[in-house]
Amino acid sequence: ASQILRRTLGSRYLSNPRAFSSASTPIRATLFPGDGIGPEIAESVKQVFQAAEVPIEWEEHYVGTEIDPRTQSFLTWESLESVRRNRVGLKGPMATPIGKGHRSLNLTLRKELNLYANVRPCYSLPGYKTRYDNVDLITIRENTEGEYSGLEHQVVRGVVESLKIITRQASLRVAEYAFHYAKAHGRERVSAIHKANIMQKTDGLFLKCCREVAEKYPEIQYEEVVIDNCCMMLVKNPALFDVLVMPNLYGDIISDLCAGLIGGLGLTPSCNIGEGGIALAEAVHGSAPDIAGKNLANPTALLLSSVTMLRHLDLHDKAESIQNAILNTIAEGKYRTADLGGSSKTTEFTKAIIDHL
Ligand code: NAD
Repeated sequence: ASQILRRTLGSRYLSNPRAFSSASTPIRATLFPGDGIGPEIAESVKQVFQAAEVPIEWEEHYVGTEIDPRTQSFLTWESLESVRRNRVGLKGPMATPIGKGHRSLNLTLRKELNLYANVRPCYSLPGYKTRYDNVDLITIRENTEGEYSGLEHQVVRGVVESLKIITRQASLRVAEYAFHYAKAHGRERVSAIHKANIMQKTDGLFLKCCREVAEKYPEIQYEEVVIDNCCMMLVKNPALFDVLVMPNLYGDIISDLCAGLIGGLGLTPSCNIGEGGIALAEAVHGSAPDIAGKNLANPTALLLSSVTMLRHLDLHDKAESIQNAILNTIAEGKYRTADLGGSSKTTEFTKAIIDHL
């Protein structure tokens, strides 16, 4: 299992112009605690970082209470500038009220910062038993277009239209990232997930771009799998897959399915990669309003996301020690949050991790 983890998280996502050689230089990073359980799990990260003496200085930004005309959303211009300046950050979940007519905060961040690839590792945790003990997948989700283009309107009364946009540029960019990632991390296969039998133009273009990039990487096996079949295969035998690359909506859905294979959304990290080496790490899960403010949330997903941020900064020693402390705490089994069948509060579980550092 430790080998799997090293392969999954053991090296940087892409060459990073802000790689730091000395762990003693304080590094400024943006922190969005976010909504719902966000502030509780962000607090866990801050405490663990402090205990592990991680040389990070957080620049905290909260979601605004009014729309900022410069971003046309509740995200302030200053918070976006902070990520642009620091080029690295950690983001808690942000709620998107359904049907309220304003731009989603997550979409705004992805668009404004051009966060084009969302990397979602998912692997069986040592000592935490689920139906499978051999899950080791990376979902790479195109993050800027598809059904998430935000182009929806009413055609006539009773009929609405939503546009799915797929461009050659964004498809090539995410495919290139997926193959580069596979090569850099010793992975063997990239599967492009699609529904091109029905979405012939859009998913057809996505596949064409994946094929073009695959030709440049003869050492990596390439296959194409229809999304519905992919879901069935994942549930039946997740070991069939290695790196999966797909358009936006499919990535959103498949990564939750994958989280279910290893114990749930409390465990799965992600990292958004943008042009010019920006990395904004965040958990796969949302703001979990059903448990917010109750000290029940599992901070593992955000903590493992913060580990990907440390790897991106080349702070491998700190990343390793925090990752080991999390995994050892879960494997030991004495302290686990309710989603993993335990009775520990967020704060107790966080303290146990700190004791394992
Ligand atoms: P959710 O991920 O917030 O919750 C789904 C279920 O998983 C809930 O039962 C919740 O309690 C549980 N869960 C999630 N994270 C957990 C954790 N860390 N520990 C323990 N249990 C956890 O999904 P949802 O309820 O569909 O969405 C709630 C809000 O979050 C919505 O407004 C949605 O738009 C938003 N959202 C934001 C992001 C993001 O910021 N990237 C991602 C997904 C959803």
